[in-house]
Amino acid sequence: MGKLTNKAAIITGASSGIGKSIARHLANEGANVVLAARRSERLQQLADDVEKEYDVTAKVVETDVTKRADVENLVKETKAHFGSVDIYINNAGVMLLSFLKNDHVDEWEQMVDVNIKGVLYGVHASLPEMIAQEEGHVVNVSSVAGHEVFPSSTVYSATKYAVRALSMGMEKELSRSGVRVTNISPGAVDTELTEHITDGDVLDMFKQQEMTPLHSEDIAKAVAYAVTQPSYVNVNEVIVRPMHK
Ligand code: NDP
Repeated sequence: MGKLTNKAAIITGASSGIGKSIARHLANEGANVVLAARRSERLQQLADDVEKEYDVTAKVVETDVTKRADVENLVKETKAHFGSVDIYINNAGVMLLSFLKNDHVDEWEQMVDVNIKGVLYGVHASLPEMIAQEEGHVVNVSSVAGHEVFPSSTVYSATKYAVRALSMGMEKELSRSGVRVTNISPGAVDTELTEHITDGDVLDMFKQQEMTPLHSEDIAKAVAYAVTQPSYVNVNEVIVRPMHK
């Protein structure tokens, strides 16, 4: 029996990278997983694989986190199917790095919509359930860019600082409610995240950088650690950076 057996865990951004790996790691601990993102074929493939590999149920709910009604539906479906909402992983995100002088204002808006509003909608939809249950765990995926600002990360960092501020406020407001909050800040992880960058100056800058990134599993293990602690333990902040050699 896993430490999360009979728990229902929602993971946003489960169609790729870190979210996909978190879903596997929580299923490995016995959680039933609810997989949310826009690309439902990818989610269905993951759900099939997870159910084959682990003794859990995996449910797909196609969700655009920028749509409040989608996120409300995600939580409603989870509650209807599993009877509770125990863990909510606010992982969906976009990192459209650009230099301010290049004025990618549409991408700034997209980052605000996904990275901030998407997370707020997750909190809005899941928190009342968790408070009523007097138990729950929200994990917000921020970034080291939510601790430091780099050239071209200004707007992305602004969104990730916002996520971290939200985590800090939640931790303070919810400490007596039974709802735990973890903010996780990864450094560079090898995923599809950088594939959406359109600013040519950023892409040129990347060509000159050498580094060995983390793997999604490195972050998923940290999340699994946080959500499998005894209920009196509140792991509030985890930073995972790659070593540079
Ligand atoms: P990926 O690009 O591999 O995954 C991003 C996920 O977010 C996808 O599953 C995508 O699904 C989902 N997503 C994007 N927009 C939406 C939307 N509107 N609605 C629902 N889902 C959406 O990147 P990562 O796995 O690396 O990123 C996961 C999180 O980790 C992000 O919050 C990112 O900022 C953070 N992070 C990543 C780092 C890295 O170096 N990789 C470092 C620090 C933090 P779909 O397109 O199917 O909707």
